[in-house]
Amino acid sequence: MTFADFALDPRLLSNLQALGYQQPTAIQQAAMAPILAGRDLLAAAQTGTGKTAAFVLPILQRLLNPAATPAVRALILVPTRELAQQVHQSVERYGAGCGMRAALVYGGVSIAAQSEVLQAGVDLIIATPGRLLDHLRQGVVSLAGLEVLVFDEADRMLDMGFADEINALLAQLPDERQTLLFSATFGEAVYALARARLREPLRIEA
Ligand code: AMP
Repeated sequence: MTFADFALDPRLLSNLQALGYQQPTAIQQAAMAPILAGRDLLAAAQTGTGKTAAFVLPILQRLLNPAATPAVRALILVPTRELAQQVHQSVERYGAGCGMRAALVYGGVSIAAQSEVLQAGVDLIIATPGRLLDHLRQGVVSLAGLEVLVFDEADRMLDMGFADEINALLAQLPDERQTLLFSATFGEAVYALARARLREPLRIEA
C-alpha cells in the first residue's frame, strides 16, 4: 500500500515524499480510509506509531475542499503543550504549501498573542482544553462550524483532570461532526467519553 492509494491531494503526497515517507504505517493503513470516508474512530495507538499523520493527513485533505463559509473546521485536543507543539509541527510539515491556517493554543503563556491569531481567522486549532475554553468564554473564537474533532492521547487528557473542560468545550460544538479518539490505554473514563461522544465508531488497534 502507498499513500497514493488514498487519493490524497498532490501537494500532500509531495510533502510526504519530501519527508521520505515511503509507505503508510500500520495505523495509517487502518485509519486513513475510514477517516477520509467521514467515519468516527476509536483508535488504540501508542506514540511512535505514526498516529499523528493518520489523522492530520485526512483532516488536511478535507480542509483543502473549501467550506461554504469560513470557520474553524477542525479541532485537535491534546493533553500538554509539548504534544500541541508536536502536532502543530506535523500540520505545518504535512500541509506545507496548502495555505492552511492553524492556531496553537495552550496555557502558561500570554493569552493575547493567541487571541490575535484566532481573531484573524483559522481553519484548524490544536489546543489544550483549559486555554481553549478561556478563548471561547472571551468570545474570541466560535466552534459552531466545526467539522472534525480529535481527542489525541485521550487517556492522558482525562488523567490530567480535563474532563470538565472537555465537557464544557463539547457543549459548544455542533452535534453533526466527525469525532476521532486516540488513546494509548482504555480505562473506564476513556470508554465513557467514547460512548458519550462517538457515533458508531470504527475500532482499530495499531
Ligand atoms: P507519531 O506516532 O505520530 O508521533 O509519529 C512518530 C514518528 O514517525 C514521527 O517522527 C513521524 O515523522 C514518523 N512517521 C509517521 N508516519 C511515517 C511514515 N509513513 N513513514 C515514515 N515515518 C513516519
